[in-house]
Amino acid sequence: MEISFAGKRALVTGAGKGIGRATALALARCGAKVVAVTRTQADLDSLMEECSSITPVCVDLADWDATEAALQDIGPIDLLVNNAARISLQPFLEVTPDQFDQLFSVNVKAALHVSQIVARGMKARGAGGSIVHVSSQSAQCALKDHAVYCATKGALDMLMKVMALELGPHKIRVNSVNPTVVMTDMGRLAWSDPKKAEPLMSRIPLGHFAEVEDVVNSILFLLSDKSSMTNGVTLPVDGGFLAC
Ligand code: NDP
Repeated sequence: MEISFAGKRALVTGAGKGIGRATALALARCGAKVVAVTRTQADLDSLMEECSSITPVCVDLADWDATEAALQDIGPIDLLVNNAARISLQPFLEVTPDQFDQLFSVNVKAALHVSQIVARGMKARGAGGSIVHVSSQSAQCALKDHAVYCATKGALDMLMKVMALELGPHKIRVNSVNPTVVMTDMGRLAWSDPKKAEPLMSRIPLGHFAEVEDVVNSILFLLSDKSSMTNGVTLPVDGGFLAC
């Protein structure tokens, strides 16, 4: 299936590393003009070395005002990927207010804020658009020590559904991808220990974790016109984990 984003402008958050970085590069390869947003300048520098057409924006998305200022001149955006997220692991009884606020401020509040900024422009231009949140299997399945992270992804999926409801009449589609473990920096942090990873992997019918490209391909599909009647869905990229 050929997907072209020629003539489209895309914004990807958390584009410095992992899934976000690969998504930004894939979108550029498919012809989109890409705005890459992340908080580590060195990652943006290396990304631009890899793909000089990418426009870098360095901002901490947990900072509402700084995000507003950083994105005010980005111009029209047709495709948005809310990918930036943080994780921290702790038993439920040890969760602190700081850990709660730090994760919600990026994983949910920043996704809402960047979506508002982009969707206002999409609505004003009347040309529609497509938004994908990078959620997780953990939105729908409890994982030990993941109380806050799971809660952020559950909230993100519900935010996605309300956005799909309210933005649909403006030809703006909103969907989520819900991957299983991917061995990025974040994946390694949570799942490097084989004693933890193997029981989880054994519950995946396909028998292995996801690759970055598996997630990127699902994001590209949901962004593209190939999914033009798909709105308000959570798309598992999990080898069947959530089905069982
Ligand atoms: P990584 O940790 O590899 O990359 C996350 C990116 O987001 C980094 O570039 C990071 O920048 C950026 N980021 C984090 N916080 C902020 C912030 N406050 N402001 C701006 N940028 C920020 O994660 P993955 O690629 O693994 O994850 C991408 C998405 O996929 C996330 O939404 C994650 O929850 C989801 N996911 C991941 C899974 C996995 O197993 N890896 C499984 C299921 C879902 P910096 O490094 O500078 O902080």
